[in-house]
Amino acid sequence: IITLSIESSCDETAVAVLKNGREVLANVVSTQIELHKKFGGVVPEVASRKHIENIDAVYQEALDTAGIKPEEIDHIAVTYGPGLVGALLVGLSYAKALAFTLGIPLVGVNHMQGHINANYIQHKDLKPPFITLVVSGGHTHLVEVKNYQDYEILGRTRDDASGEAFDKISRAMGLGYPGGPIIDKLAKQGNKHAIEFPRAYLDDSYDFSFSGLKSAVLNYLNAQKMKKQEIVVEDVAASFQEAVVEVLSTKAVHAAEEKGYKTIALSGGVAANSALREKITKMAGEKGIEIKFPSIELCTDNAAMIGCAGYHNFINGKIDDMSLNAVPNLKIDVN
Ligand code: ATP
Ligand code: MG
Ligand code: FE
Repeated sequence: IITLSIESSCDETAVAVLKNGREVLANVVSTQIELHKKFGGVVPEVASRKHIENIDAVYQEALDTAGIKPEEIDHIAVTYGPGLVGALLVGLSYAKALAFTLGIPLVGVNHMQGHINANYIQHKDLKPPFITLVVSGGHTHLVEVKNYQDYEILGRTRDDASGEAFDKISRAMGLGYPGGPIIDKLAKQGNKHAIEFPRAYLDDSYDFSFSGLKSAVLNYLNAQKMKKQEIVVEDVAASFQEAVVEVLSTKAVHAAEEKGYKTIALSGGVAANSALREKITKMAGEKGIEIKFPSIELCTDNAAMIGCAGYHNFINGKIDDMSLNAVPNLKIDVN
């Protein structure tokens, strides 16, 4: 089965071609990061316009790379939520036009289920059930993956997402956008014990909270400026990152233990974080739990992950019609 998938929920215009769900024949990503950098974050209207400009060329490049003709595609998979409504509509309209003209099924995909499915592409033998820690720009969730289309939310952030915290702290220190990769790199030269930032464990709940940590870092930066004291950005980055990573790792390992799972898969952009990968692998290893994560390119937004989730929807009969609409606040557990 050949899947052609489209992703345009935020600031990446992406098209991929997959064979039987896990074999990636093409995975083309055109990122708008440079365009949004000067604003310190994604500007929705600018993102939508850029998707319109890009999508045709990205589609053509995906076909060329995969070496297939449009007639060979069996179905179209497309992100229909969550994300920016204008951005989503560009990919969705393009997908509908393709499905209609080629006379093939249209399959709507939940972007967050896409992030989780990136693990199947990376680990060809991975099968549900397992626990996944979904950490991205807009989400921080602990999810039980019961089957390919059966997701149960165990906990979620009550305020900021972990990726959002990285981006905000980076911006506050004037380091740039997106903050995650920048802080990850700087932290390697810093002392993670230099500053004691708070960790919110929220008793034994599977929920998360990062707004208190964010405020603590902002207060620390202000206090240092008021006192005309030096700010060692490497130490702030390392200490902040350690606080995030410690809570994420502790809760995910705890959930796996309590629910009796031997595998935790990391999903979403923050799963690219080197300190998170290292810490959770160590903590889980001590409990006999295995950690899996996708390659860096498969962690952040791409269409291959959407194709994999779309393939699972397709073979399980979840097919949409032309009335499929964008759902900006789509919940993780909705197919
Ligand atoms: P969502 O998937 O929730 O809709 P999104 O698509 O914008 O949001 P992703 O593409 O999954 O988010 O991930 C982008 C986020 O990942 C950004 O917040 C970015 O800072 C963060 N990120 C990327 N690389 C790293 C890293 N190495 N360390 C920490 N965070 C990272
Ligand atoms: Mg992005
Ligand atoms: Fe994403």
